[in-house]
Amino acid sequence: AKEQGRNRFHYFTPSMQEYARYRMALIKDLRNAINRKEFELYYQPIVDMEQQRVCKAEALIRWVHPQRGLVSPGEFIPVAEETGLINEIGNWVFEKAAQQSARWRTQFGVEIQISINKSPIQFRDEGNTFSDWLALLRHLELASNAICVEITEGLLLDASMGVTDKLLSYRDAGIQVSLDDFGTGYSSLAYLKKFDIDYLKIDQSFTRNLESDSDGVALCEAIIVMAHKLGIKVIAEGVETQFQHDILANAGCDFAQGYLYSKPVSLPEFERLYVYPVDH
Ligand code: C2E
Ligand code: CA
Ligand code: CA
Ligand code: CA
Repeated sequence: AKEQGRNRFHYFTPSMQEYARYRMALIKDLRNAINRKEFELYYQPIVDMEQQRVCKAEALIRWVHPQRGLVSPGEFIPVAEETGLINEIGNWVFEKAAQQSARWRTQFGVEIQISINKSPIQFRDEGNTFSDWLALLRHLELASNAICVEITEGLLLDASMGVTDKLLSYRDAGIQVSLDDFGTGYSSLAYLKKFDIDYLKIDQSFTRNLESDSDGVALCEAIIVMAHKLGIKVIAEGVETQFQHDILANAGCDFAQGYLYSKPVSLPEFERLYVYPVDH
């Protein structure tokens, strides 16, 4: 390891060049991905812990690159954010999700709330986007709570973006708001109270800790009690075992999401499993 450390500088420049080349290619491909219809939304069911049924789904973007195959959002979303391409991608995600929700309702009479992820960059560069979104919701005659927007704690800390007003206009429009990855950032109780959010998503690192130590259990219990006192419902992320499910259910967690129930699946798969009426 020491050897490597000493030699690192030697290899630094070529690998930087390689990285820059890779990045430029990625940006170029990303610019064309929407037109070429290379994006797809996968859906991961969110389970109501009390009713034991799927009532929501998180839409997660997938990029099927013509040469490289599946590129994970963890790889291309940050690049899309740095280049501003996230705005166009985010609008595509919203439109797809809204159309899907409308289709499920009109064709199958099924109301499943779809959560979409909205990057802080989208709030920053928004322009008229939000009124376009509202116009589409009206056009599709969607139930007011058909769409939920997942935001991260970082957004709440950035006062410059007029976040309070924006989240208020979400509320007026009936769009619900989830605070994603809760516990990984810096937001405090005060933030939860100030921004009238509907759901708090306990980050999967907390869910994982339920297995290993009793502090993890106490922490989740405390988050749930606190959220409920503030009128916020709780969604646990990354639930992989029955053990974690049982602890969370006992602690009064409202919803859960994770591989225990299902991985994110393609639209046809999601519809086959969760949207068609049981006697279909
Ligand atoms: P996220 O919003 O926290 O989404 C949850 C991630 O955890 C997803 O990864 C999901 O597949 C994964 N996951 C769900 N259940 C489990 C589990 O039980 N165990 C484990 N180990 N993982 C689980 P994915 O789909 O790769 O997405 C990664 C991140 O990319 C998302 O994290 C989100 O920040 C971002 N992302 C995905 N789609 C979009 C999008 O449409 N727009 C934006 N802005 N970001 C997106
Ligand atoms: Ca999310
Ligand atoms: Ca998350
Ligand atoms: Ca509330």
